[in-house]
Amino acid sequence: MQKIHNYINGEFIAPVDGKYLDNYEPATGQIYSQIAQSNANDLELAVKAAELAQQDWADLPSEQRSILLMKLAAAIESASEELAKAEAIDNGKPISFARNVDCYRSAANIRFFANAATQFSTDCHDMGKIGVNYTLRQPVGIVACISPWNLPLYLFTWKIAPALATGNCVIAKPSEITPMTAFIFSRLCIEVGIPKGVINILHGSGPSIGAPLVDHPKVKAVSFTGGSATGRAIAASVAPKLKKFSLELGGKNPSLVFADCNFEATVKEVVRSAFSNQGQICLCASRIYVEQSIYEKFKSAFVELVEQIKIGDPLDETTQHGALVSQAHFDKVYSYIQLAQQEGGKIISGGKKVTLSGRCGKGYFIEPTLVEGLSDDCRVNQEEVFGPLCSIQPFIDEKDALSKANGTEYGLAVSIWSQDISRCHRLSSQLDFGIVWINTWLLRDLRTPFGGMKSSGMGREGGFEAMRFFTEPKNVCIKY
Ligand code: NDP
Repeated sequence: MQKIHNYINGEFIAPVDGKYLDNYEPATGQIYSQIAQSNANDLELAVKAAELAQQDWADLPSEQRSILLMKLAAAIESASEELAKAEAIDNGKPISFARNVDCYRSAANIRFFANAATQFSTDCHDMGKIGVNYTLRQPVGIVACISPWNLPLYLFTWKIAPALATGNCVIAKPSEITPMTAFIFSRLCIEVGIPKGVINILHGSGPSIGAPLVDHPKVKAVSFTGGSATGRAIAASVAPKLKKFSLELGGKNPSLVFADCNFEATVKEVVRSAFSNQGQICLCASRIYVEQSIYEKFKSAFVELVEQIKIGDPLDETTQHGALVSQAHFDKVYSYIQLAQQEGGKIISGGKKVTLSGRCGKGYFIEPTLVEGLSDDCRVNQEEVFGPLCSIQPFIDEKDALSKANGTEYGLAVSIWSQDISRCHRLSSQLDFGIVWINTWLLRDLRTPFGGMKSSGMGREGGFEAMRFFTEPKNVCIKY
């Protein structure tokens, strides 16, 4: 059986203590590979490698770092079919989604920050005849990049690319549930000649390697994407040590549909926003609020489209809805579908486990599910489910829509669907979310700040925000 090894100092290395975890294919429920269960011993090797590499990498002119990152982006594109298939097997997502979203964006992330490396500039504060200040932006040093399982290579590259572009050495930990594309990525790093020790990838569980990694005294900054509970634990560990940290956490994203929306386009896009990647995108809409005058019409059109979504083997090109990522996550999502009914909700589409024929007979499939009739404060409308379960409710007016949208502990992303541009601007300024989309969803410009408010995170990724996070500003003041 294939073994997924760590990537340390430019080489594949077995875990020091020889321990492995089983890696499951979600579509079949079968173990298909084994992952290094790394611990503090493996971490020491990675830290040593990164320490040795750090100065040379930081001293390399940014153009040289940019050229290497461009090569890495091209290598991802060349390996796109291999990566897409690996992601579909490892995560359960449809291969077409893995190819067009995960692989495409992974290469785009790296290319974007390769360009940013050559465009990033620093401030100068002129004091007239007295003197001048300029600000150096120097790499932080060794940084930890920890990523989740929903968009494995996509979110992994979103972190390591700015870290490398700004001259840091990285120790990265992909999710133990979806390690395969990071493993393939290690090989691509060797192929394009990323210097040894500049990037090190440690596999294994959160407690075994994630916690020691963020805690290590030589790790100077932590960039984390994952659940809010893990984010809080990481903040509690690193804050007393005064390390830099950036947290991209969970969401409970609303979609606000007004009667004056462009109806057909809105129905289509709101379905996409609710169920893409089996609802396992931190930005997916899980609360749909519709102005009461079009509620019934919208609901019927929405259900009609949802029922056309093709559930199937992730490796089938025509599949639109694949498997959930793990047995544990499948159980969690299904328990929330049951909870929705206990809380007084009515399932109006989906709601059932799906047993496919053939090789996927034991896979973790759940229908895209829509529930109505829930109260604003029930658990299903307040807690992040992170799966194909979405609630729909009418709202009375703009004030009601605003209060419903802002009424959870989360503040990641919101979509407004309306042709009244004044209303859209007015609401945008009052919505407590890091990302507001108007008449669109998941339209991304990589230069913009990305992240959430409230329990959805601290700090922002994207563009120069990420470049600033991975650098220390040092002001130099000169008196004439
Ligand atoms: P988790 O918080 O469980 O895990 C995220 C990563 O942290 C994994 O690599 C995990 O390892 C690791 N980890 C777990 N415990 C620790 C620890 N104590 N110290 C350091 N690392 C640790 O999230 P999921 O993987 O379940 O991902 C889903 C969550 O991610 C959802 O809440 C989703 O909203 C959020 N997310 C947020 C995004 C955003 O940009 N705001 C984007 C995408 C997802 P292991 O896998 O071994 O547990």
